[in-house]
Amino acid sequence: ADTILEVKHLKKYFNTPKGLLHAVDDVNFTLERGKTLGIVGESGCGKSTTGRSILRLIEPTSGEVIFDGEDVCKKNKNELRLLRRDMQLIFQDPYASLDPRKTVSEIIAEPLKLQKLITDPKARMDRVRELMQVVGLADRLINTYPHELDGGRRQRIGIARALAMKPKLIVCDEPVSALDVSIQAQILNLMQDLQEQMGLTYIFITHDLSVVNHFADDIAVMYLGQLIEKAPSEQLFDKPTHPYTQALLSAIPVPSLKKKRERIILKGEITSPINPKPGCRFAARCPYATDRCRSEEPVLREIEPNHFVACHLTEGK
Ligand code: SF4
Ligand code: MG
Repeated sequence: ADTILEVKHLKKYFNTPKGLLHAVDDVNFTLERGKTLGIVGESGCGKSTTGRSILRLIEPTSGEVIFDGEDVCKKNKNELRLLRRDMQLIFQDPYASLDPRKTVSEIIAEPLKLQKLITDPKARMDRVRELMQVVGLADRLINTYPHELDGGRRQRIGIARALAMKPKLIVCDEPVSALDVSIQAQILNLMQDLQEQMGLTYIFITHDLSVVNHFADDIAVMYLGQLIEKAPSEQLFDKPTHPYTQALLSAIPVPSLKKKRERIILKGEITSPINPKPGCRFAARCPYATDRCRSEEPVLREIEPNHFVACHLTEGK
């Protein structure tokens, strides 16, 4: 396998007045080149912090992020600037992340200018036009401002800006969550086409499992800072194994299943990620929790090829 990214024991803790917040707590996974990993979970589960820590837009507390054979965490500022060409981020709200005082062409040209990739203004404009075409933005929009455009077009600008650097990996943080469903499909199709054309690797972060169902090759589920299940998409949808994944999936219809899944409603309070107690973080809400679950933390184990689960129930499987 051609591994592009290896995340090892990634941790990000924040000091808060109430104690140490374990936002990302020992996350491990690998990602193959040209593939898409969906990272799914409720808000506050640490998925965005994981994505940003991988790019070192947030400084990880500890761990290793091996990107194309090099440890991102060991890079100095200058090396990191160069590495950023290869690793880009697309944001959820393209409006908030686009400078309202800049035109479409200025926004897309900015990284080329900052990274001194294309210094000649004329050549830079040619590249901007090319990028606009690649993401399906009409040439006539070149001097418009973001607020004059709808959400879908704004997200296309965000994608063009990310592509300007010819990245290898793009972390997409809820890239379609702010868009209407019909526009969502257009953007997802575009992203898929771009992936094929350019051999891009994606990390696709979302709270919405149904969005990544067809889009992601593998799906990782996070709960309170930890990765609790990871499997090829189809496998995860057919055989969700962690009780939390089962509950998440029970909320969305799966056409391939003959029987409708029974909706699992989780009771119990969400454990605080601040100074978390020992044991499984899901124990307070898990219908199968035992005394052992409340004292011993389950580790992520491979129960079938490429299917990882962190739950005491899966032992011996
Ligand atoms: Fe539930 Fe225990 Fe498994 Fe945690 S380890 S998910 S509490 S059964
Ligand atoms: Mg988020």
